[in-house]
Amino acid sequence: MAIVLGAIADDFTGATDLANNLVRAGMRCVQVIGVPEADLVLDDVDAVVVALKSRSVPADRAVADSLAALGWLRARGVRQVFFKYCSTFDSTDVGNIGPVADALLERLEAKQTVMVPAFPANGRTVYQGHLFVGDRLLDDSGMQHHPLNPMTDADLVRVLARQTLHRVGLAARPLLAQGAAATRAHLETLAGEGVRHVICDTLDERDLTVIAEAVVDLPLVTGGSGLGQALPAQYRQRGWLAEVAEAGRLAPAAGSALVLSGSCSRATLGQVAHFLERHSPDSPRGFALDPLKLAEGETHLAQALAFAREGLIDGGPVLVYASADPERVQAAQAALGTERAGRLVEDALGHLARQLVAEGVGRLVVAGGETSGAVVSALGIRQLRIGDQIDPGVPWTQSPLPGREAPLSLALKSGNFGGLDFFTRAFEVLP
Ligand code: ADP
Repeated sequence: MAIVLGAIADDFTGATDLANNLVRAGMRCVQVIGVPEADLVLDDVDAVVVALKSRSVPADRAVADSLAALGWLRARGVRQVFFKYCSTFDSTDVGNIGPVADALLERLEAKQTVMVPAFPANGRTVYQGHLFVGDRLLDDSGMQHHPLNPMTDADLVRVLARQTLHRVGLAARPLLAQGAAATRAHLETLAGEGVRHVICDTLDERDLTVIAEAVVDLPLVTGGSGLGQALPAQYRQRGWLAEVAEAGRLAPAAGSALVLSGSCSRATLGQVAHFLERHSPDSPRGFALDPLKLAEGETHLAQALAFAREGLIDGGPVLVYASADPERVQAAQAALGTERAGRLVEDALGHLARQLVAEGVGRLVVAGGETSGAVVSALGIRQLRIGDQIDPGVPWTQSPLPGREAPLSLALKSGNFGGLDFFTRAFEVLP
């Protein structure tokens, strides 16, 4: 069967979040990193998510990258295109959500799309066009202080109107309560009036289902990963999806187990401490990477490599971590500069990943959003088949490795995701 859904995600972990939800709703899904080669082989796939880095780049660059992704997806004959952004509508007055949506609509020769950022399961809801994070309006949620895209207005109709020359409308909750047919009729009326973008209220999963049913025939939908949870049921009703028992089924994992952590988020610090405690003192399995020592020369990294090799002899798991509390991070940043400290850590973890995977690591957990990007790029990985989730939002994935029969099993965890025992349990749930 043909690929049903082609998604364009404006960042890497957002792409995985959507892909994870699609798999949970029964679609077999591959995430590709950047726009792939034209001849990429994809077997048994219902959805492809193209992960871009277009959230915080200049709008013309975001538009160009998104159109390139669209071109690739259309060549694959996808039925519906999904532009995925953050559930907190991360953008500025110059974009990039409005300009990208406008460009995609134009290229698809479509007259209207919907904007559905809400993810009720994670406390992101929209009422009368206003976005809430938990019980706070967006502009009072902490997002007003975001370093790259501060969100100082919770009224999404107003926010989007500043990003597009086209008209912006609203599908409000009382309308959604009347069901999918009424919602579709409202969208058509708005389209007749020249309203190109329609912000959709969403309070709960029921609203998402109504929206999904109303928009399943639109060439383009846009939103957060919540909408991704609701669309597959509509595709199934139309007979567009093959019946598969386990959409997240991966090949059996093989090879030794390694955890690389460059995240200093609170959840990760807890996971590191939990792992170290569990494996000490008889067989210590953790090596602390220190950016100050990395800056002195190659010895420290060589020591990390030797430590990991020793622990991997019996299959692991071994943990190499730069994760440190705020005081230690600040000290390293003061001595080296923030960017250099980060780069030293990311380069070191990338190097360890490349070396140790070449030597037989086949199950790899990486903690940290930026860190994951660095490791994936060091390994030259271009596509990830999405498996079952370990903890909410974090699935196991698999990627083919050149010259090796078994694929690499990879779990990429952004900072605050995962339970306390994530670094041990991840390997226990892996088939
Ligand atoms: P998260 O998802 O938790 O935000 P990221 O990997 O995105 O994690 O970001 C963490 C950043 O901090 C990375 O750039 C990493 O290289 C850097 N870093 C990690 N450990 C240290 C450290 N001990 N000192 C300074 N910077 C560090």
